[in-house]
Amino acid sequence: MGKLQQVRDGLHRVSPTMRYLAPTTRAERSVARDAGLEWRRWYKTARWQRLRWSVLVRDLFTCQMCSKVELDTSLLVADHTVRHRGDADLFWDETNLQCLCKHCHDSHKQRAERATT
Ligand SMILES: [Zn+2]
Repeated sequence: MGKLQQVRDGLHRVSPTMRYLAPTTRAERSVARDAGLEWRRWYKTARWQRLRWSVLVRDLFTCQMCSKVELDTSLLVADHTVRHRGDADLFWDETNLQCLCKHCHDSHKQRAERATT
């Protein structure tokens, strides 16, 4: 009982290192299964932050689908035009990236997923 109390008291010191992003669609689950979620970590790297930023600057913070200029970069997405499905070459290829606003990205993604299911 004393040990259990010790563990419970120590739990607050354990911080979650990374939030698990659960795959929500069938296609995402399939990708996650195949890639073992390895590629999700790529989004957390400084290399990705640099690449994302260079794409937003290159595209002048302009959505490549609706031409909206968005200055709040939290509302912009560096979108892979060809789905990388965990393929490192496609993931890191700057020519495979385009700047999209969140709205277009989300609707674009849903359309693409409907097309593949
Ligand atoms: Zn847009």
